Amino acid sequence: MAIRITPCGAVRTVTGSCHLLEAKGLKVLVDCGMFQGEDEEKNYDPFPFDPKEIDYLILTHAHIDHCGRIPLLVREGFRGKILCTRPTAQIARIMLLDAAKVMNETYKSRLRKAERTGEIVNPPLYEELDVLESFDFFSHPYLEYGKRYDLAPGFSFTLRDAGHILGSAFIEFEVEGRKITFSGDLGNRGKPIVRDPSPPSTADAVFIETTYGDRNHKSFKESKKEFEEAVLKTLYREGNVLIPSYALERAQDILFVLREMFERDILPECQVFLDSPLAINATKIFLQNPEFFDEETYRIFKERDPFSFPYLKFTREVEESKKINDVKSGAIIIAGSGMLTGGRILHHLKHNLWREECSLIFVGFQPKGTLGRRIIEGADKVRILGEEIAVRAEVYTINGFSSHADQRELTEWLSHAGNPKVFLIHGEEEKMKIFAEHIKGELNLESYVPELGEVLEI
Ligand SMILES: [Zn+2]
Ligand SMILES: [Zn+2]
Repeated sequence: MAIRITPCGAVRTVTGSCHLLEAKGLKVLVDCGMFQGEDEEKNYDPFPFDPKEIDYLILTHAHIDHCGRIPLLVREGFRGKILCTRPTAQIARIMLLDAAKVMNETYKSRLRKAERTGEIVNPPLYEELDVLESFDFFSHPYLEYGKRYDLAPGFSFTLRDAGHILGSAFIEFEVEGRKITFSGDLGNRGKPIVRDPSPPSTADAVFIETTYGDRNHKSFKESKKEFEEAVLKTLYREGNVLIPSYALERAQDILFVLREMFERDILPECQVFLDSPLAINATKIFLQNPEFFDEETYRIFKERDPFSFPYLKFTREVEESKKINDVKSGAIIIAGSGMLTGGRILHHLKHNLWREECSLIFVGFQPKGTLGRRIIEGADKVRILGEEIAVRAEVYTINGFSSHADQRELTEWLSHAGNPKVFLIHGEEEKMKIFAEHIKGELNLESYVPELGEVLEI
């Protein structure tokens, strides 16, 4: 009895995660993510399967590159069940609503420009209403780690903690004794809030992400020290600190570290702004799911809020956000987008980037072609919201806050899986090559990079 797996996304690229698994007469999708960046156009290709025929969609986690096309799937006829942990369902909800809103705004502004250039602009992939509709398919009760769920006689799966973001999981399928594991995105060890990734069981086949298959990060501990020094140096010279951040996980990591600094009594009096409604909502969801915290964060949670301290202000409204512009020193501003591709951070850059007493701390990867990347590469002037702004603030790049396992951690994780067939997914081709050689040398494992739409029989 054959098990067929078709990669429908995240092939030789990091976005659009989606795999179709067919066994025992069932069609099961693992993730239904959005393509982002240079692959964006692929979102408009039809699904390489009939959404009406899918029985289950199992989500590894709530990042948009893993759940972002759910509303589209539902609009095209999906009527199955969506299975995931509770934080994944809750976070997916706010992420999808935000995605619909951002797509709509982007569409309107592109349309205005297109009127002048005659360009054709794709409509948004879906509307808020489609998002609301898709919530009906999330299945209760939510899934737990370590528990076996039967899909059909002889066909089951188990979720284990991937340690990537709150509620993230990897999936171990078992079909008539054969085991197939999907890594989802695997986390970076030693991070606060989430636990370290669980080791996988032995498997016959493993589909593993390779985002950082080619390199090792600095440890979180080292990065935290760099971060603290950058913040303190700026506050002592009476500047403002700007931290572009993803709303999910990274923003909470930063609040966690700042709270620690406050409690250790090293943070001088200042004003910390979490200037992102999405990050504020995500933080609230974190507080509703303490059973998903690691031991340290859980212990703190039992006594107090791990993400809060007296200097912190949540600025949800646009008016409150604008008022931050009046603060000329002693402000720490956490705002999106993490790659400076839009969002409130642009306004803060306009007011602070040209002032040499200020600093800009990058705690996330800045891809080629983004404003963030241009600043890191040393541009002395950049265009922000239609104005030329000099880059005089001190710029820091700190890489150990990453939510992804590095080469060493991916290899260690894979070493627990026995002697499986390895399929490399969710990574750039060059990095996959390096990772393939590395695991051949370290674990004597052969690996294979599947094609988009290729039908793999296991
Ligand atoms: Zn992810
Ligand atoms: Zn991902």
